[in-house]
Amino acid sequence: MQPWQEHLDEVLGEVLLDEETLAKRIAELGEQITRDYEAANTQELVIVGILRGSVVFLSDLIRHIQLPLILDFMAVSSYTKGTKTSGVVRILKDLSTAIDGKDVLIVEDIVDTGLTLKNLGEILTARHPRSLRICTLLDKPSRRTCEVMVDYRGFEIEDKFVIGFGLDYDDMYRHLPFVGVLKADAVE
Ligand code: 5GP
Repeated sequence: MQPWQEHLDEVLGEVLLDEETLAKRIAELGEQITRDYEAANTQELVIVGILRGSVVFLSDLIRHIQLPLILDFMAVSSYTKGTKTSGVVRILKDLSTAIDGKDVLIVEDIVDTGLTLKNLGEILTARHPRSLRICTLLDKPSRRTCEVMVDYRGFEIEDKFVIGFGLDYDDMYRHLPFVGVLKADAVE
């Protein structure tokens, strides 16, 4: 066994979503997004990828969207109070695109408590887009502490910490081509 494989075996539990399952659902989401924005007569869709977790999902998703679009990114971090997230986000990297009057679609890796997207939604709404929607690959509804309107959702999952396909543990494992569960005993 290669050293990397041995290392992976130590941290990775079950594979929750394999490559084929992810690809099929992401294609469906892209087609649905295309249909909806075509129906809304969208001239130019602004896709806002949230760094860094969304990049793998985003790069697959946009290749299934058949519309004129602009791709931009934001990076945010949550202020923490002790070990708890306060829910207030700080912008680490802002958009390069002005979004007033534009149709904006936020693309996220996972919605957990919902605090990040609630805050981000408020920040972007204040810039007066024509519309603002949210697309997430994964959703953990059982963890929600605030209301967030998710317009496009790849998969609902249970309350388990997942890695791969953009999602990290300690800044690692984002490049795994599937979504897997982090082993409980891998957490320090
Ligand atoms: P929220 O503000 O909704 O609680 O948190 C969203 C962020 O928490 C996600 O963008 C992601 O960075 C992180 N997060 C939540 N659940 C998981 C998980 O199961 N795995 C990983 N790797 N990150 C998660």
